[in-house]
Amino acid sequence: MIAVAEEIWADLKEFAQNYYTPSSFSVWFGQARLEDIDLTNNRITIYLPSDTVREKWQKDLEPKLIEFTYKYTGKDLEPYYRLPNVYQEDTTLPSTDSTISSHEFDVRGTPLNANYTFENFVTGPNNQMAQAGALAISEQLGTLYNPFIIHGGTGLGKTHLMQAIGHEVLKRNPNIRIMNVSCEKFINDFIESLRKSGKDESLMQKFREKYRTVDLLLIDDVQFLENKEETQNEFFHTFNELALNQKQIVMTSDRPIDKIPKLNDRLVSRFKQGTSCDVTLPDFETRVAILHEKVELKKLNIPKDTIEYIANLIDSNVRELEGALAKLQLYASANHNEAITPTIAAKALRNSYSQAEHEELSILTIQETVASFYNITLNELKGKKRVQSILIPRQVAMYLARELTDNSLPKIGEAFGGKDHTTVMNACDRIKTKLKDDQSMNNDIQELKNLLLY
Ligand code: ADP
Ligand code: MG
Repeated sequence: MIAVAEEIWADLKEFAQNYYTPSSFSVWFGQARLEDIDLTNNRITIYLPSDTVREKWQKDLEPKLIEFTYKYTGKDLEPYYRLPNVYQEDTTLPSTDSTISSHEFDVRGTPLNANYTFENFVTGPNNQMAQAGALAISEQLGTLYNPFIIHGGTGLGKTHLMQAIGHEVLKRNPNIRIMNVSCEKFINDFIESLRKSGKDESLMQKFREKYRTVDLLLIDDVQFLENKEETQNEFFHTFNELALNQKQIVMTSDRPIDKIPKLNDRLVSRFKQGTSCDVTLPDFETRVAILHEKVELKKLNIPKDTIEYIANLIDSNVRELEGALAKLQLYASANHNEAITPTIAAKALRNSYSQAEHEELSILTIQETVASFYNITLNELKGKKRVQSILIPRQVAMYLARELTDNSLPKIGEAFGGKDHTTVMNACDRIKTKLKDDQSMNNDIQELKNLLLY
């Protein structure tokens, strides 16, 4: 038993050492210990110094822990974390790779996406005004254009530009307090606080404090306020309080504010006191520039003529351009990373862009795409193994099959090696729950949808 424990721990340590930077490694792994493996109760116990470390473990290391445990014991053990009875909440935490840690800066709500900076934002005639406005308010927070509203179609860089303001402002003043939140999250948060306030009156107070004591409120996709009368009221007051104190509000919307149905008049007139800029479709030159930027950012091996080929082929939004690149990347990695010539690109993208009507998506295509996305085999994906590294992709594939095709639950179950329809239902529920607060799951699903739909 002891030997097994040592093997598991050695593998996990090696993984963590590669996964984290040396200083992060000592924070997240340094004080952890494997305390017990209980094969009767199928439980593996890990000692961790604090709750924050536990949360991080569950996200980054638990899938590997389960995998290595399975490798050496042949059993699916449930991880159990033992924490010290009394511990100090740790305050110095490193930032993760893809997001700005909310511990380093006061960024509440969702962490900022590290790639969504002004440096990574390519300007063209379609977004110049919006970019200039965004940059200007980063320099004169709260007093120049308030609120600042970016509107335009999907995948055109609204969220990117809004978060760029957050990054820029933090660069200038790390002590700034930011709330970055989707409108949906604001609505849910409000409803939840309202619902629970019957039991605990302080909850509404907490909700208000959270949103009203920031220097910069970033709120994404405000078109979702449509028809939400109570929330609109609350938002109106939040808005007033912030504006009164010259705190900056930035919003995005998929249409101009006065085109949002059932938005109450006083909110509309408030919004109109600020400035709106739109973002529209990029022209050919801008599409080429954006593709160059992304190729560099993602370190892809895609030559210039292929980039121009893609820019010609796809004239819709930026997200679709990224979808095409992701597809090519996947294609290249399956083909020994050979350079992507226009001919190869044409072959890889043929099905998605040649006809106006997309072919109907099949469960098999979803399975193949998800399997290669997560680096597992199709058989593993359809099989029975319940190791996290396989189970999660399987649940993701079931969820996408349900979301993106018209197949019934039993039909989907059947396509996954004859599973029961309740298994599919549970998988969909699991993923939906994760999507509520797991950023990396949101990213995975978004990327997979890009791969499958465009
Ligand atoms: P929206 O919020 O308008 O739907 P996003 O801001 O999410 O769109 O942008 C979709 C993707 O396209 C993001 O990955 C973003 O980085 C990228 N993108 C959009 N516009 C640009 C641009 N001008 N330069 C670089 N990347 C862009
Ligand atoms: Mg957006």
